[in-house]
Amino acid sequence: MLEVLEAVPPQVLLVCAGVIGLLVGSFLNVVIYRLPKMMEQQWAAEYAQFSGNQGEAADLKAPNITLGAFNLMTPRSRCSACGHSIRWYENIPVVSYLFLRGKCSACGSRIGVRYPMVELATGSLFAFSAWQWGASITAVAWCGFSAALLALAMIDWDTTLLPDDITLPLMWAGLMVAALNWNPAVRLVDSLWGAVAGYLSLWLVYWGFKLVTGKEGMGYGDFKLFAALGAWFGWTALVPMILMASVIGALIGIGMKFTSGLREGGYIPFGPFLAGAGLTAMVFGPQSILRFAGL
Ligand SMILES: [Zn+2]
Repeated sequence: MLEVLEAVPPQVLLVCAGVIGLLVGSFLNVVIYRLPKMMEQQWAAEYAQFSGNQGEAADLKAPNITLGAFNLMTPRSRCSACGHSIRWYENIPVVSYLFLRGKCSACGSRIGVRYPMVELATGSLFAFSAWQWGASITAVAWCGFSAALLALAMIDWDTTLLPDDITLPLMWAGLMVAALNWNPAVRLVDSLWGAVAGYLSLWLVYWGFKLVTGKEGMGYGDFKLFAALGAWFGWTALVPMILMASVIGALIGIGMKFTSGLREGGYIPFGPFLAGAGLTAMVFGPQSILRFAGL
């Protein structure tokens, strides 16, 4: 199927990939907003089920769980301020935002600039993949990779959660891409050890930190995300990526401390910086991070 696309001029391919990226970005906005809420609903349901009185009490404690479906497809997108149902022409990536001048058409409350930014970022990364890898399965794989990382970065920033529903498939996908030789740059054996070393290294740091200070410096989601990055780039890329994530994370943490932009408890999620390092490695190559740092 992809052979047919090889006749398509690269400019056309790039534009098509960019448009698909904008649409996927629009869907990512839904995932970023709804997936954490779906996880919380599930926890509430499980909690109700396990905390003693099953049956009637469970229904009382979590009444909203049974009322109406809430998932990535239903209900339709609504304005979070007034509940206005968003029509299809108000849901065109970036264009609608500009046309509506960033306001809800019903109540006039502001729509976050983040929505078009996520769409633009996804569109750019998809266009980049098409430009870098042409009409190939490799390009498709990297599109999936970048979409997953964008969603993880935003969800972790908002909620300090890194959903298993994204981190684990991302890791398996990295191993599969290597096994199928869809990414000639990484051998399966390097991908496998990348996943193992990625998980274990942060697990060791976590427990070392916890034993010494009694605090938790990160979460299990971070280990899984780093394992996924190891699977996609191979173990040799782990050191450059962790260096970049740590340095930029520390700089932003210090910056937020001085501008008192820290949230309650002073916790800054590590996932967005890991994701940022992963995307940098995708665009410039993992070893470029070391070159940039003068190492
Ligand atoms: Zn509204």
